[in-house]
Amino acid sequence: MAEKIFKDIMCPVCGGTCDDIEIVWDEENRKIEVRNACKMGAAKFNEIVSHHRIMSPLIADKEKAEKREAEWDEALTKAAEILANAKRPLLFMGAETSCEAMTVGLHMGEYLGGIVDSNSTI
Ligand code: SF4
Repeated sequence: MAEKIFKDIMCPVCGGTCDDIEIVWDEENRKIEVRNACKMGAAKFNEIVSHHRIMSPLIADKEKAEKREAEWDEALTKAAEILANAKRPLLFMGAETSCEAMTVGLHMGEYLGGIVDSNSTI
């Protein structure tokens, strides 16, 4: 079995920031084993290999009311166009997100003159 072990991963789930998570990645069988995480953290990490996870970008076709798979470059260009053309851009982010990803989101919100909000407003 081809396994890769990733160590000292920080868990962004509850705010406790456990930073000694280990992931054993079984690439061949698309499975992971999560070590040192609580049940909630382990469940979130297991979503990485969930069959529910969308693995390729999708672009909505409004005329056909459906979504189609797209290449990453096309999807990122489309996302940038939507954000750049928005009158009042809203970036909804933050929950279970790393500090690095939040930093990028905050910079994007500032650049766009938009609003950054999180799930705490639900
Ligand atoms: S492993 Fe559990 S306790 Fe630790 S940060 Fe993640 S969710 Fe919180």
